[in-house]
Order: sequence, then structure tokens, then C-alpha cells
Amino acid sequence: MTLSRDLVGEVANALSANGLILRGGFGFGDDEMAPAASSGVPAKSVLLVGQAGAAPWPHFQRWLGQPGRPVANPLDTWSREVIGAVARSCGARAVSPSDRPYLPFQQWAMRAEGLKPSPLGVLMHPQYGLWHAYRGALLFEDEISPPEAHEAIHLCDTCVDKPCLKSCPVDAYSGQGFAHEACLDHVRGPRGEPCRTGGCLDRNACPYGTDYRYPPEVQAFHMAAFARL
Ligand code: SF4
Ligand code: SF4
Repeated sequence: MTLSRDLVGEVANALSANGLILRGGFGFGDDEMAPAASSGVPAKSVLLVGQAGAAPWPHFQRWLGQPGRPVANPLDTWSREVIGAVARSCGARAVSPSDRPYLPFQQWAMRAEGLKPSPLGVLMHPQYGLWHAYRGALLFEDEISPPEAHEAIHLCDTCVDKPCLKSCPVDAYSGQGFAHEACLDHVRGPRGEPCRTGGCLDRNACPYGTDYRYPPEVQAFHMAAFARL
């Protein structure tokens, strides 16, 4: 059985109520080790769920303002709640990038939308730049008619100056990979205020997708979670 484009459209509509969007999808090949669908059989297809810019932020903030919300990992909890409800409504199994063992979300995302990593590791989107994210995925035991994937232009290939590699005060991104400890020390230290309040200077230096750039309070929230401030 193939799930109709109508169902895919209904899923997209349900997600939009919380500022989330479908980020493409694909069918697993017969020779792949696909994760389980809701009934336990290997999934035949997956739809990726995420965001462009900070669209979910007001929805998340309203949810967070209600009594009894968790202090730890609230965005993860909210994403699981919202995407889990959509999954139940369409017979899918919801999974999260924070599930253990980790699922290959980045590979799925590259496959679903034809994206490639930027020098910062974040996937570069031709419209959203570095200002997008994946919040979950829906696994189906049937094939789907996913939104058509187009070969995406990889803007980093045409970016000569690469300002995203020149703005960090401790040169945390280099050909040797990401200097996690150096970044953390700086963010937590006396000179880390710009990163703490406005987000990663390297990420903000990218000239693309600036209409989708997260507002400072959103970047500060993510930085606090990353650096456990
Ligand atoms: S600054 Fe250039 S190389 Fe860096 S992420 Fe943006 S487009 Fe890619
Ligand atoms: S958060 Fe700050 S210290 Fe860390 S990589 Fe970005 S600019 Fe550098």
C-alpha cells in the first residue's frame, strides 16, 4: 500500500499548528536495516519533521509557560509531545534525534532534501541557510508519496571567503574538526558574553538565510542548553 499525498498533506497541516514543517522523506530500500514502524515491522518509509527559522518558538513558549513543565530538556519534551500526537493520528511511529541508540538523522536529512554539511557541520539549506533544524521523524509501515526531493545547490561550494570559519574568538572550527572544549571554555568564560546572549559568532557570520536567523533569545536558549549554563 502507498500512503497518499493527501495523508502527507494532512500530516503537514497538523505540524503547521505548532510551527513545524515536513522536511522531505523517502522509502527505505529492501536491503536496508530500517527502524521499526509502529507495529514493530521494519518501516517502509520516513518523513522528516523540523523547522525553518524559529517558527515553533512561540508555540513552545506557550507550552513551557504552563504549570508542571519539565526543567530539563523542555524543547525535546515538547517536540516529542507534538510530533507524537501527529504520529498517533496517522498510524506512524515518532522518533527523535535524541533517541538512544542514535538514529542516522543527518543521513536521512541529506537523503530527504539533498543537503550537504557546511564547514560547521550544520546542513546548509539553499533557502534557510544554517537556520533550520530537525525535531523528529515519522516512520510508516507503508510506502509514501513524499514531497519531491530536488537536487539542492550547496552554497558553501560557491562561498569563497567562508566567514563562518573566521569569526570565532578561539577558532573552534578548523580543518581538524570542532574544538568542543575550547568552545565551551570560551562560552562559559568572562569573554563569552556575545556567544551566550547572541549565539555562535561563526554561525551568525554566514551571509545566507538571514531572513530565517533565530532571534537572540532563541539563540541564547540553545547556547545555554549546549553549554549547560
Ligand atoms: S559562510 Fe559560506 S562556507 Fe560558511 S556556512 Fe555560510 S555559505 Fe557555507
Ligand atoms: S559558540 Fe562562540 S566559542 Fe563556540 S564556536 Fe561559536 S563563536 Fe566559537
